[in-house]
This record gives sequence, structure tokens and C-alpha cells, in this order.
Amino acid sequence: MSGGGIAQLAQALRARRVSARALAERALAAARARSDLNAFITLSEDAALAAADRADAALARGDAAPLAGIPFAHKDIFCTRGIRTTCASRMLERFVPPYDATVVERLAAAGAVAIGKANLDEFAMGSSNENSHFGPVRNPWDATRVPGGSSGGSAAAVAAGIVPFATGTDTGGSIRQPAAFCGITGLKPSYGRVSRFGMIAFASSLDCGGVLARSAEDCAHVLAAIAGHDPRDATSVAHPAEDYVAALSTTLKGIRIGVAREYFGAGVADGVAAAVRAALAECERQGARLVEVSLPHAHLAIPAYYVIAPAEASSNLARYDGVRYGHRCDDPQSLEDLYTRSRAEGFGREVRRRILVGTYALSAGYYDAYYLRAQRVRRLIADDFAAAFATVDLIAGPTTPTVAFRLGEKAADPLAMYAADVNTVAVNLAGLPALSLPAGFSEGLPVGLQLIAPAFAEARLLAAGYQLQLATDWHLRQPTGAK
Ligand code: GLN
Repeated sequence: MSGGGIAQLAQALRARRVSARALAERALAAARARSDLNAFITLSEDAALAAADRADAALARGDAAPLAGIPFAHKDIFCTRGIRTTCASRMLERFVPPYDATVVERLAAAGAVAIGKANLDEFAMGSSNENSHFGPVRNPWDATRVPGGSSGGSAAAVAAGIVPFATGTDTGGSIRQPAAFCGITGLKPSYGRVSRFGMIAFASSLDCGGVLARSAEDCAHVLAAIAGHDPRDATSVAHPAEDYVAALSTTLKGIRIGVAREYFGAGVADGVAAAVRAALAECERQGARLVEVSLPHAHLAIPAYYVIAPAEASSNLARYDGVRYGHRCDDPQSLEDLYTRSRAEGFGREVRRRILVGTYALSAGYYDAYYLRAQRVRRLIADDFAAAFATVDLIAGPTTPTVAFRLGEKAADPLAMYAADVNTVAVNLAGLPALSLPAGFSEGLPVGLQLIAPAFAEARLLAAGYQLQLATDWHLRQPTGAK
């Protein structure tokens, strides 16, 4: 798919220079050829070819939807009717949903062709994709490195050129961090912009569906298909979606970019900071104004997030009881034995750790000290952003403190793993949209620039990314072996 953005592919399909079927077959073949990456849990060949044939028929009739015939992958956290949806957990290893998530429905209605379900950290808990029941995903830039998480399979599939885009979810960085580690573009929309219906819940007040692609332009095309109100998700907002593609032409002239001092703090590698500053200097050459801003409560984001997210997870994951669906232990001796053994066998270590932490934080006697306090910190963090956005249009910093780390490097140290999310989780606590853009390399590995916007200003965010990408070519670089 080298060089072929979504618009070019759509044009080639409309001109009948290539068929949707040929693109689907090519993507499926590429996914198989790169099985070394372990980016996919399930390939849905029959459904993909049937969808491609429908797209070809619509293209031939001349009434094709905007993404007709464009192949892509779904993170295996979106329910797909008739296609197993595992969330990378033994708990859901054999779960075949009876319905489609809204994001799945909308992309199908837009004509896009799903080729399969991408690997992830179990229940989207992780920053390295090492917490998958189906094994880790490898980074296409260096097979000894992690692709980031939790949307690691989605990021690796796009970076390796298997598909031009993939869906992802972002609760604390799971779209932006793997996009940064894999040298691609990742968009986390505002909370409520994209329906959560049929997206398996991790932490409901933080979870956001979004997109991983090569460019901001491609993210705009996909967001246009998935954004919008959904009556089946009570937290989805009625706020009308903008025309994200038309808005891309807005230049950076006069845009005030707040450079967040705290995002360049201790722990940020020099090479990462230097690459991000160089990308920001390019924005300045395009007419943006760089202004230093401060987010004084930034250091409290990790502790607040790692109380709130596990608390909500412990509540959401109570539904996996071995009774209704999901894994059930063999030969239960009692109801309690059924619950405890089904859950102990079905959940991996990190998921069990989060359920324990969350249950503790919510228990009588500790609720005020942990959960309530974390909610208060959450408000302070949101207020920091609101104060900064009184004087700037966007806020910038490195998406991650380092480039992709090695497989196994942090696996035994949960706190070190959590610290990798230092620049991403605050955005979720405040419900804001953010974009990670390729911003050069350090140690031969991709670096990500994070841009953050006020709620529902996705059009401004995507336009800034697009304008930067018009002037730079970091987003066009691909690892060796890419399709
Ligand atoms: N790495 C963070 C966590 O482990 C964020 C995950 C996510 O965004 N789904 O919770």
C-alpha cells in the first residue's frame, strides 16, 4: 500500500484501476506473509471477500459509499456479528457476538472492507501488547521491540503496510502511544464523539474509539465515517460532527501552539525531546506561534488514572462470571467455585491485578481516600487544560517519554510500564481529543508528537497534523519489509 493514502486508493477504485477484491486479497496475503508480527488474532477472509464484492458492485453501479473497497483491520475489542471477538482474553476466546458495534456498522456502511481482528493487550490493559492471551505483537521497525499498547496489533498492521488504517481504542493512550512507537498517525477523538456501543468496556468514563492510519488526512476520512451521535450509547454526544476533510485546508498561520513544559520533564529521552522540538519548529515555519504553557497538575495524572481506570474496570469486568458467557471452568463444585475458578482461569495477570486494585479502591473505608480523591484530581487536571486553552489553540509535547522499548524490558515491573503513559492519560481524564504524529527518529526508531485540542475541536487538530505532514515526510517513512 506504499504511498497510497485513502484518497488515492478511493480514486483508483473509482477509476476501476484496481478492484476492491484485489485490494482485500492483497491485504489478506500481506497479513499472512507478516505472521511474524502476530498483529492479528483472527483473519475474516470470507466476510472480507464478500464485503469487497459488494463494494465492487457499488463501484460499478456508481453509487459507492466514501470508503468503498478500502481494506482495514478492527482492534479485537469491537464486537463483530458472527466473527469471534476475544479482547485478547482467554475469557472471550470463543465469544462470537450476536451484534455489531456501532463503529463496525458505520465502517461497513461506508463501504470499508474489514480483513480481520487485530491483536491487543487483554481488555486493552497495557502499554506494550505483551498482555495478550494470543502472545505479544512485534514492532515492524525492530522485532525485538514492543509496538506499544494496547492497540499494538492495529499499529503494527498499519506500519507494516498490511492495511491503510485500523480502528483502535484509547483509555489512557492506547491509540497514541502505539502510533508513536510504530511511526504512524493516531487519533483519539473527544470523549463522546464516537459511540462506545459494542466496544468492550474497560473504563467507561475514559474509553474512546478512534483510528490509526498513516496520515492525519487518512484519520480525517475515517473519523468522518465513525463520528456522530448514537442513541444506543448514552454518553455519545449530540454535538454535530464537523466536515473533517474539508477543514484540512486550514493552515497553521496564526495558530497558537502551547508547548507544555511538564511534557518535557524528567524521564523524557533527549533524542525524543529534540525530535519533537524540531517538529514544532517546522510548525513555526508554517506560521504557528509557539507559546510555553504549564499544566501544573500533570504529575498527578498517572496516580489518578491508575485508581480510576482499575476502579471502573473492576466494575465492568464483574460481568464475566462464568454463567452467562465467556470462559467457564470445568466441573464446578459450587457457585462460588464456578465464579472464582472461571475468573482465575479466564483473566491474565494484569487484568487480575487491575480488578484487585480497583475493588480495593472502591471498597468501604477506602473509597474516600482513593476513588473520590482521584476524581477530585481529575477535575484539577481538566481545569489545567481549560486554563491553558484560554490562551492557546493546541497543546503539544512528546506522545511518549521514550521510543519503543524492548520486549520484556518492563513486563515484570508494572509501575515502570504505567510510567510510559505519563503524557497520554491526562487527555483521557479531561475527555479531550489528541493526535500523535510521526516526528522523526531517535535511536533509529520513530518518535511521536502529540497535539491536544479542546473538546470537539477534532477538525482543528487534524488540519494542524495535515499541514505539518504537507511540509514533512516522516509519516511516509516505512520500516523495511513493509508491504
Ligand atoms: N496503558 C494504559 C493502561 O494500561 C492505557 C490503555 C488504554 O488506553 N487502553 O491502562
